[in-house]
Formats: sequence, structure tokens, C-alpha cells
Amino acid sequence: MMTTIHHLNCGTLRSPFIGKAICHCLLLEDKNGLALVDTGFGVAETRNPVQYFTEELIDFFAIEFDEDHTALRQIERMGLNTKNVKHCIITHLDFDHAGGLADFPDATVHVSREEYDSFKNGNPRYLASQFAHKPKFKSYDQSNTSWFGLPARKIEIGFETDIFLIPLFGHTTGQCGVAIEKAEGWLLYAADAFYSTAELKTDNHPVTRTAAAAAENDSLRLRTFQSLLEFSTSHPEVEIFCYHDPVYFNNT
Ligand SMILES: [Zn+2]
Repeated sequence: MMTTIHHLNCGTLRSPFIGKAICHCLLLEDKNGLALVDTGFGVAETRNPVQYFTEELIDFFAIEFDEDHTALRQIERMGLNTKNVKHCIITHLDFDHAGGLADFPDATVHVSREEYDSFKNGNPRYLASQFAHKPKFKSYDQSNTSWFGLPARKIEIGFETDIFLIPLFGHTTGQCGVAIEKAEGWLLYAADAFYSTAELKTDNHPVTRTAAAAAENDSLRLRTFQSLLEFSTSHPEVEIFCYHDPVYFNNT
């Protein structure tokens, strides 16, 4: 039996040029357990945001904190045991992707080697409070594996479905997308490699200005974006979506 893929919106914010943005996480349900792909905000953060984030950050992104939207509460409402979340596959360690980790303190956090090193070297971009529980990390080096021609790193969590980290560097030093095999075909979870599906279809989308400002290495981000554009054209059969575009949840 294949791994079941659930789509969860674990947070709502707003960003200049993007407008409403969400936190599109995945819950992977497998006979061997549960895994999250990115985690949105955590329960404690939604209860007492000013203890975790500066008022400037909360205001700038107009973050709507809602405990019901956290992955922990959504998994409970699905009737699943949150203790079975043993793995969190994290595209990059920004505050809007890693906040939920604290709700799964025993889960192993899977990231690229580059992202892990950037974090360990004290990159001020990352919020120490989100890692105060000292999660166990497993990092993935460059390998000889490829996925539809893109460099790939196989995630080792023993699930039925194949899962790969796909380097999409630039937004952060080690940001990766996550490729997951579906019952039919594949999906590519592209994290913050783009912010709006419209960017893949329009030249010079205004969101580009936000993307440039948020990027750790903007020329690398642009190269990544270009290769994703080419990939989406040559592989229309692969479902590609990003983290912040609300389009997926508009009808739900
Ligand atoms: Zn983000």
C-alpha cells in the first residue's frame, strides 16, 4: 500500500506583493508511521506569539495565529496518534516552516547538509526558540542519485513511498524541495522556490521583488527558479506546488 498524502494548511500570513499566504504542510501516513513535510507554527507560538516572535515580525507578515491550524491539532482531529510522527522533513529552517517542530519533540528532523551546517554555524536568520527542545537532526549530503534528471537525495524513513530531497538552493543556503511518489505519478513540493503558481506562468511577476529580498543568495535563487520553470515545462505530469500559495486550499 502506498503512503497516503494529506495536505494541511498550518498557518496564515500576508506578505508584500504576495498578499495572503498560507503554510502548506504535508502529513504522510504510512503503515510504518507518520511524517510531516514542513510544520508551520507550533501550539505554544499560537498561544503566546509575542514570547516567540518580535512584534515587528508579527506585524510585517500579519501572521494570524490559530492553534486549530497547527499540525498537532489537525492530526488529533484526524483521529491519528500524534506520537506516531517520528519524522519531520524540513525544506529549510525559516520561522514559518519550523515552528511546529516543538510539538513533535521526539521526531527526527531531516534536512540537507547545507541547511544543517548553516543552522549549526549560527545563521541569525533562524530562531533559536524553535529549536530549544534540541531536536535530533539527520542531514543529507549530495549523492549520485537523480530524480527526473534533477540532483536528489533519498530520505531514509522506511516508508512505502520513495521520498527525495531536491536541492532548490538560494532562498536559503540549503533549501530543498521534496519529491514524493503518489499513487499515480509524483509531486514536487517546492517550498519557497516560488511563492505563487502564477510566477511559473508569467515573466517578471511582481512577487519577484519579495523573493529577491528574502533570498540568502539571489543569483542562486534565480538559477533554481529557472531550472524549476524548465522542469515544469518538460514534466507537466509532475504536480508542482509551493508552500505559501493559498490556491490549493481555496476550494476546501
Ligand atoms: Zn516561507
